[in-house]
Amino acid sequence: MSTTHVQIAAHVEQVWQTDILPALHEYIAIPCVSAMFDPQWAEHGHLHRAIGLIERWCRTRAVAGLSVEVITLPGRTPMIVMEVPAFGAAGTARPDDTVVLYGHLDKQPEMTGWRDGLGPWMPVLDGDRLYGRGGADDGYSAFASMLAIEAAQHAGLSHTRCIVLIEASEESGSPDLPAYLHALADRISSPSLVLCLDSGCLDYERLWATTSLRGMISAQLRVEILTEGVHSGEASGVVASSFRILRGLLDRIENVETGELRLPELHVEIPSDRRAQSADTAIDFTIADHLPFVDGAGPTTDDATEQLLRQTWRPTLSVTGVDGIPPLDQAGNVLRPTTAITLSIRLPPTCEAAVAYAALERVLLADPPYGARVTLTHPHHADGWNAPSFAPWLQHALRDASEATFGLPSRAFGEGGSIPFMGMLAKMFPGAQFVVTGVLGPGSNAHGPNEYLHVPSAKHVTAVLAHVLDAHARRA
Ligand SMILES: [Zn+2]
Repeated sequence: MSTTHVQIAAHVEQVWQTDILPALHEYIAIPCVSAMFDPQWAEHGHLHRAIGLIERWCRTRAVAGLSVEVITLPGRTPMIVMEVPAFGAAGTARPDDTVVLYGHLDKQPEMTGWRDGLGPWMPVLDGDRLYGRGGADDGYSAFASMLAIEAAQHAGLSHTRCIVLIEASEESGSPDLPAYLHALADRISSPSLVLCLDSGCLDYERLWATTSLRGMISAQLRVEILTEGVHSGEASGVVASSFRILRGLLDRIENVETGELRLPELHVEIPSDRRAQSADTAIDFTIADHLPFVDGAGPTTDDATEQLLRQTWRPTLSVTGVDGIPPLDQAGNVLRPTTAITLSIRLPPTCEAAVAYAALERVLLADPPYGARVTLTHPHHADGWNAPSFAPWLQHALRDASEATFGLPSRAFGEGGSIPFMGMLAKMFPGAQFVVTGVLGPGSNAHGPNEYLHVPSAKHVTAVLAHVLDAHARRA
């Protein structure tokens, strides 16, 4: 390790321990769920409290030239915009060069199943893990981004002009982000590097760069057959169950035996470099080993490469919500009038989400069985993203910084999740390099119960970013 690496590591460690962890405890305690889950977010004020906390924290940092603003466009969730002018000889030599650092502060809702002694709004530090909603997804990002810049300055490294964007609508699909990107277009101009701290990692041993993200579709599928529920002794057999009709509709889009989705519009040709990357990662990594199966249960395939491809390049369906069905202890013998579900479909990175949605709508709404009323509402779809190849300077910077901080060189992988923001930025800035990384690794369980932030990894990622900022300013 060079002196600089030691200096950065020490500064990052100290600030994380004394300043960031206490702030993150405070942040986790705020139920600032995304607007989609809290339509009255403005009255409740939780998002504003989280914004205030991050804004105050950032304002106190020893970062040369730092400006911190909270911008609110009418009818939108606010956005924190922080700007730091170029620093150091290499940075100031590139006056037009800009790095964008992105994160979000809104959260997923509570979810059930938290272990005793843990809870979504209850920060608990247990060894390396800081439990609670939003610490890892994505509350740490604002603090880590700001500290990476601070650490680079503190160690006498360089960086170009940096703009840190912390949005508050990501978990709702980033509906407010395009308006802000548009409003800030002059200030953002054309960044040459985008750093996004909202992604995952396959282990906590090295830096993982995300090279693709899945797109997604969500919508509510509703089947109505009666105007009101009727005694099942009277109606069943004559009236089709709305549940059975719904099952039939699902069979049109998904093979119930294999889980394979049937619509060609949802599939893409998997690029050969991504297949090779999956095969590489599969040598010492099997996704299924890190998932909480019940005793006796196992994955859809034992082939580790195919698991990686199914999690990144093949479309999948999850049913994430249900309506029209009472809970078990209130189930009477009635033929229910309606059954509705929320469909959540993950799409391959290069699939066109709008085309996929149109195909889905066409197939689900065609020829409704028994003339039932079938509707598909609340549609939302977003394209995925497939990264441009790393420039050599970035490839080297990631490898070396990961080796110096984590002890192992970096690796790249496809992420199963979606970050709508990435698709938007990739389209807006086709010339930029992207480092998409994060700490959502094995067991961290973002969106589920028992979410935790793996603190050592968050520190290491922060240090790596400081080095990447410097390498970016110094690149040929
Ligand atoms: Zn996130």
